[in-house]
Amino acid sequence: MLLLVKRWLPFVFVCASFTLAPILALAASDWEIIKVSGHDYLSVDNISRFYGLPAGIVAAGDKAQFETVKNPLEFVGGSREAMINGARSWLCFPVIEQDGRFLVSRTDVAKTIEPLVRPHRVPNIGKVQTVVLDPGHGGYDKGQVSRYGCEKDFALDVARKVRPLLQAKGVRVIMTREGDYFVPLEVRAKIANAARNAIFVSIHFNASNDDPNATGFEIFSFTPRGAPSTSDSAVAVSSLNMQPGSEVDSQSLALSACIYHSLLGHIADYDRGIKRARFAVLRLTKVPAVLIEGGFLTERGESKLIANKDWRAKLAGAISVGIENYRALSINKQPPMLVADYRRQTKLAPIEPVSQEGSLKEADSSLMSLVGESAFLLPQQTSPPKQKSSLESAPIVP
Ligand SMILES: [Zn+2]
Repeated sequence: MLLLVKRWLPFVFVCASFTLAPILALAASDWEIIKVSGHDYLSVDNISRFYGLPAGIVAAGDKAQFETVKNPLEFVGGSREAMINGARSWLCFPVIEQDGRFLVSRTDVAKTIEPLVRPHRVPNIGKVQTVVLDPGHGGYDKGQVSRYGCEKDFALDVARKVRPLLQAKGVRVIMTREGDYFVPLEVRAKIANAARNAIFVSIHFNASNDDPNATGFEIFSFTPRGAPSTSDSAVAVSSLNMQPGSEVDSQSLALSACIYHSLLGHIADYDRGIKRARFAVLRLTKVPAVLIEGGFLTERGESKLIANKDWRAKLAGAISVGIENYRALSINKQPPMLVADYRRQTKLAPIEPVSQEGSLKEADSSLMSLVGESAFLLPQQTSPPKQKSSLESAPIVP
């Protein structure tokens, strides 16, 4: 699952400060639907207007504009890759250009951008009473094997470490497996579906056959109806309408965002992004569900980190904080913490350099009081991403 670096075109659009922008009422008249080959699109201008983004839209290379932007929304022409609130996020369909305008699919505006930008406004996020932790694989199914151990054992250990952290907050925790045995995928989903007011969090570690240097975190929720999964070609979508969606698409994506921002904010790993897939455990669960890929067992340095119990404890801590942030959405309806907030709190250096220069003079003081000065984060994706993780230059665990 490599990044789409080669597809990048030199059109990057940045809209400013989503989470703090004035919230406009959602009304049909706010949207101008543009039909392209029978599919509905919305212009980047329209999206910017809808969210009341103060800095509007600027083209790549306009550094002066970039430096006024906090928590940017960034699209790339011809790509499904976007930056939303400082985290990489994958659209279902590429951004296209028509008549000089850049267009985002209606599916993505409704199913990707809105829940990621305003997870606190996702409807029907109920009180979470139960967290179902699902350590991937087990028994004969070892998952990926590295020179240091098996995915099934690392995943179980992380789940065991997350459990007491959640229990300490008064949450009921159910594990789909407690030991080294295999549980069928449909049984894992059934356990979640039978639990009261539950969410489902599956824990895995990653592998790449193509790229031995691949590192980083990614998180998945179920692909919306009519859309390709992140790893599918965005073009070959002919039969996708046959794929059912989930009633809790938006809740699952909000859960993805809460956990993913915490992961990236606590651990300096490569940001592979918030993705969509039709994995069985995501398809069969009826409750908000995500699958975490907590680093690569096929990369030497990262597999060594994953084998370190202190690093896994850190991973477990980040997962539990993310889950707590999601639980809080149902109570306080406030925007959850973002990667920049966590990094400021944990004094963790961001992977890519951040410049404060020029930010303060443009800043709205009322916004500053909400986010703090150092929450300012430059757009991170104006050049193709580096595959090397900062793990190599700044090891977390000696
Ligand atoms: Zn796995």
